[in-house]
Amino acid sequence: MNKEKEFAKSLMNFIEDSPSSFHATKKVEEILCERGFKEIKLEETWSLEREGKYYIVKNKSAIIAFVIGKGEIQEDGFKLIGAHTDAPTFRIKPNPEMIVEDKYLKLNTEVYGGPILNTWFDRPLSLAGRVTIKTGNPLKPEELLVDMKKPLMIIPNLAIHMNRKVNEGIKINPQTDTLPLVSIIDGKFEKDGFLLRLIAEELDIKIENILDFELFLYSREKGSLVGFNEEFISIGRLDDLAMVHAGLYGFVDSQVSKGTNVLVCFDNEEVGSTTKQGAASPMLRTVLERITIALGKDKEDYYRALSQSFLISADMAHALHPNYTDKQDPTNRPVINGGVAIKTSANQSYTTDSLSSAIYEGICKSIRVPVQKFVNRSDERGGSTIGPISSTQLDIPSVDIGNPILAMHSIRELGGVLDHHYAYRSFKEFYSL
Ligand code: ZN
Repeated sequence: MNKEKEFAKSLMNFIEDSPSSFHATKKVEEILCERGFKEIKLEETWSLEREGKYYIVKNKSAIIAFVIGKGEIQEDGFKLIGAHTDAPTFRIKPNPEMIVEDKYLKLNTEVYGGPILNTWFDRPLSLAGRVTIKTGNPLKPEELLVDMKKPLMIIPNLAIHMNRKVNEGIKINPQTDTLPLVSIIDGKFEKDGFLLRLIAEELDIKIENILDFELFLYSREKGSLVGFNEEFISIGRLDDLAMVHAGLYGFVDSQVSKGTNVLVCFDNEEVGSTTKQGAASPMLRTVLERITIALGKDKEDYYRALSQSFLISADMAHALHPNYTDKQDPTNRPVINGGVAIKTSANQSYTTDSLSSAIYEGICKSIRVPVQKFVNRSDERGGSTIGPISSTQLDIPSVDIGNPILAMHSIRELGGVLDHHYAYRSFKEFYSL
């Protein structure tokens, strides 16, 4: 399992370099550049070459990369894999500094997405995101990424002696119970602008030039391989950076054939996808249409291309939990390292149908990658994915798949070393077809 472990370590490094959706996008961009991809901008006129390798960044937090196929776009279509760059966390509010009893400095935050709140207690936490900087043109401020890269704060638990019922389950209030403690201060402390001073120092800029920021908390704890045979991957944001990572390497390692390969990493899946860089936006649709036009084709060719296309919506799935076996569907019980899970749902909260499922399963079987089936219990509502949202934008066949993990949306999730490599191999094969 050596190459699988190496690949899992590469994933952990990738996640550690991606503390926010902005950093994940930057990391994907870096790897694309190493492989000879060229950035094109939405505001430019595109001229694209056969077998050319390109990418577009949106909002610094989403990215679409593509390789023009050898065939004719209207006949060979697009082969797409979609994933998302964001993960549940806390975002720092404006004017966040709060002083408690003249001694403690804590920061005001709000919840982003659906984290398991209690997993955020007692962890060394840091801050990452983007900062907007003043320039000569008010319409075009500059944007810088910032990652504080050190344990700056912590959300301490309340002692069991003050909360005797803690192990019977407690309700956590996100306004009062989860604000991170940053420092002990003395009487003369200037609370206003504490965070801005910190950012200015880190970025080596003047505090008055900072116009705004989008900063998120993340855990400073390192990922690790866990288990008797090191078969598990224990780290945060596997949902969905594991699929971004496997999709990206499947994409850059494949040989281009007739179809045009596309990797799309959306932002804001965890908050409903309805932003300009989310799966519900026209972002992907516009890019696919512009690719078609830049190849000298017309609208008819674009619609013909879509009818020849296929999307793999890649987002993590739930593995059977060893301590809560009754939470899983009685007959479809994916386990960690049992293979990639194909997700289906009668009410179409996943896009999979029998045809798209058969196509993906066929690709996996052809290279001996095992697959499992995931269905929610009939009395449980599952999570959402980018699949149904992007297919309503695009009208192309799609399959929802993902690796089975435990503790989804915990600050540390648990996935499988073998599964991660299986997903990569299936993606590489799909893109090479
Ligand atoms: Zn997800």
